[in-house]
Amino acid sequence: MVDAPERAAALLAHADETASCTRCALAQGRTHVVFGSGSSDADLMFVGEAPGFHEDQQGVPFVGQAGKLLERLLGGIGLGRGDVYIANVLKCRPPQNRDPLPEEISACESHLFRQIELIQPTLVATLGNFATKLLSGRPLGITRVHGQEQEVTLGASRVLLYPLYHPAAALYTPSMLKVLEDDFARIPALIDRSGVKAVPLLAAAAARPDAPAPAVEPETVQLGLF
Ligand code: URA
Repeated sequence: MVDAPERAAALLAHADETASCTRCALAQGRTHVVFGSGSSDADLMFVGEAPGFHEDQQGVPFVGQAGKLLERLLGGIGLGRGDVYIANVLKCRPPQNRDPLPEEISACESHLFRQIELIQPTLVATLGNFATKLLSGRPLGITRVHGQEQEVTLGASRVLLYPLYHPAAALYTPSMLKVLEDDFARIPALIDRSGVKAVPLLAAAAARPDAPAPAVEPETVQLGLF
């Protein structure tokens, strides 16, 4: 399915299905499922950790303080929320904003993988440890890997994965904010480098025989859903 309107319709249908999800215990305490927001045909997708209080109230990701910072950083590279797609690893708020549990991630991850499959981003920026570890398939923490793009295979698509510090962490640590701003500044070049949307793997390789080698060895990520 490469047709954008068809993918947009399928994403809406997927959001509708997810709105009544009861795959884990977080369903009991939520106000809203926070599915995701933005352009269903975005080249750039952000993946955060989980909704917080305000996101749970409004049903929209990154609308609290961390979201304000994310919007400011996006504005700094000439983009707005409508130009990108924003989602989280977990679609429901963990109580007291605690870390996601492994069983919650396992129960929820196929929602995210389906979103990626339908949106077909070429660059996926992971915000913080949980999204980075899930989508890189590696246990390395964000302090070690932030700012290091990595070509990965998610389902049937080749994607440039770009780990970033989580904006919530950067809010209170000026040194981390500076690093996040510097890493953000590379996004426009990475979008350019990340290639053509919706080209199947073999065709992509044939179309880009002279593409520069990725900064990190290509990695294939096995996603249960695909
Ligand atoms: N932090 C996240 O990881 N996601 C949100 O939606 C809000 C805050």
